[in-house]
Amino acid sequence: MSEKENFNIVEAPEGYSAPGFFATSLDAVIGLARKNSIWPLPFATSCCGIEFMATMGAHYDLGRFGAERLSFSPRQADLLMVMGTIAKKMAPVVQQVYEQMAEPRWVIAVGACASSGGVFDTYSVLQGIDKVVPVDVYVPGCPPRPEQIIDGFMKIQELVGNETLRRRYSPEYIALLESYNITINK
Ligand code: SF4
Repeated sequence: MSEKENFNIVEAPEGYSAPGFFATSLDAVIGLARKNSIWPLPFATSCCGIEFMATMGAHYDLGRFGAERLSFSPRQADLLMVMGTIAKKMAPVVQQVYEQMAEPRWVIAVGACASSGGVFDTYSVLQGIDKVVPVDVYVPGCPPRPEQIIDGFMKIQELVGNETLRRRYSPEYIALLESYNITINK
């Protein structure tokens, strides 16, 4: 295999082209760069985290999507991936981690527990992380297979690639955060 065949060239965004000339919007270029360089923060508390380990391994290899650089510091992450059962005592920690991430930031709830509390309909378990942070994508399953996690990740890439630069300053987005008592990070 030649060196060239080792690389995937991503599709160019929509625009106008002619020989030696290509023009597109700033939103499209930033979206293209962001969606192919997502830095996830894995917040794994139980079994779904094991599926994520498989997702990061050589067979599934999330690095193929430009996301091999996991961040265990919220300040250098832009995708919070919550995987596992979140006890109510842990809920403020999830929210604090989210608050420490800079904008733009996205969230995936991986698996039934993170999405809805799963089978643990008990006094001690948070019935879905969307009680404390806004969630962009929910991945079903108990546990979801790595393919499902990758599918959820690709949905996030779609959102990231198509998001306008102004969205994070929109009244709707600020109101969404305020409904969680979270102030916007600029
Ligand atoms: S959804 Fe199922 S596999 Fe995932 S953390 Fe909950 S109990 Fe474990």
